[in-house]
Amino acid sequence: MKYVSTRGGMALQGFSDILLEGLAPDGGLAIPQECPQVSAAMLESWRALPYHALAAEVLGLFASDIERADLQAMTRAAYCKEAFKTEAIVPLKPLGNGLSLLCVSEGPTLAFKDMAMQFLGQVFPYVLRKRNTTLNILGATSGDTGSAAEYAMRGKDAVAVFMLSPHGRMSAFQRAQMYSLQDANIHNIAVKGVFDEAQDVVKALASDLPFKARYRLGAVNSINWARIAAQVVYYFHGWLRATTGSGQEVSFSVPSGNFGNILAGHIARMMGLPIRRLVLATNENNVLEEFFRTGIYRPRAAAQTYATSSPSMDISRASNFERFVFDLVGRDPVRVAGLWRELSGNGHFDLSAYLPEFERKYGFVAGYSTHQDRLNTIRAVQEKDGVLIDPHTADGVKVAAQYVEPGIPMLVLETALPAKFSEVIQQALGVPAPVPVGLENLESLPQKVTVLPCDVASVRAYITEHASV
Ligand SMILES: *Cc1c(COP(=O)(O)O)cnc(C)c1O
Repeated sequence: MKYVSTRGGMALQGFSDILLEGLAPDGGLAIPQECPQVSAAMLESWRALPYHALAAEVLGLFASDIERADLQAMTRAAYCKEAFKTEAIVPLKPLGNGLSLLCVSEGPTLAFKDMAMQFLGQVFPYVLRKRNTTLNILGATSGDTGSAAEYAMRGKDAVAVFMLSPHGRMSAFQRAQMYSLQDANIHNIAVKGVFDEAQDVVKALASDLPFKARYRLGAVNSINWARIAAQVVYYFHGWLRATTGSGQEVSFSVPSGNFGNILAGHIARMMGLPIRRLVLATNENNVLEEFFRTGIYRPRAAAQTYATSSPSMDISRASNFERFVFDLVGRDPVRVAGLWRELSGNGHFDLSAYLPEFERKYGFVAGYSTHQDRLNTIRAVQEKDGVLIDPHTADGVKVAAQYVEPGIPMLVLETALPAKFSEVIQQALGVPAPVPVGLENLESLPQKVTVLPCDVASVRAYITEHASV
């Protein structure tokens, strides 16, 4: 299995090569040269596998340069009961009206980002060891990604994490989750600015090529292909748990922001998994819903990006979307490069000529919800089904309801647990979300964080002092 760039300007690379890189050298994203195919017989042979073994089978199709036994050891370590607190790793929880939750948020930081990060926490040190090198992961977070990366990499050799977060702008729970980590290789840096400004500092340092090379800076952002590949696994798992025989179809509803989660569903469908519909759910930041309704992709400026009660979906542009467009335009890299040139010139591009294919060929449908919809949905699911869902999952449930079909299971991805967004639960139900077992004292644990001005020089000086070279 070799990888190419969506814009055509990258020599063929292996999985381990693209693992540690960000964008392809031509500004595009790495994508398999050919989508691996899974036959009905193969699918049936996976039915009884525990999650970690299924993960090794699916990831093995993408990471053919990693020894199968090593991959099995890594998925076994990544998807274990100690980290996920449930034997199933990803349980399926039935709601009413043909809907079920696919519970991908049972990991250490209570959001689905753990599904991919736990694997990166194995495969990064593995590849770095093989290449006899180290990596300093630099990132900015507004919540879920940074904490998932830190929990995955804590105490691992050959890797350190430098994570910028906006000082005073995360919930008490989110702060406690990140800052209570005492591991020597985890560096929490609270910068006095908003998330976008923290992100700008990261971009400035990552584009200072001599500094980046000297301090071996890397990233684990949402365009990382290994994250997508690890997410493909739970679509297979969901299908295997919701069906009893080959050929049966399942639909998925996915609360979406950067298009990383639902892209994994698209890949699973292209591999031959019998997925009927991929329901893309957004909040008020409905750039993607608008695309699937009109065929026009028009990212928004930061000033037009609303702060909502499903904050992990508050994005202005969808960084993984280019990989879907690559398939949509017949895997034509010249066309993709042209579209992204048009985007930077005009601020939008128009693929409405492909509108009839969105659902017919790719299964995509879309919808969005509002703050009031989230509150109503959280309340309705609690009252009717006795299940407490988080506001992001509520976006998925609300939009899924429009697309349920008789006889076709609709699996809604539960992208976070309600405890992470208790303020919204309080608003919907009048009571806060219960704190998960084992995390009762999280907010009273000692915290390790360095507060810095939000400027490049301060962060550069901190990394210079603390990075392993
Ligand atoms: C990251 C995140 C999302 C959005 O996922 P994408 O892969 O960016 O589309 C949705 N919900 C939660 C809770 C998240 O953390």
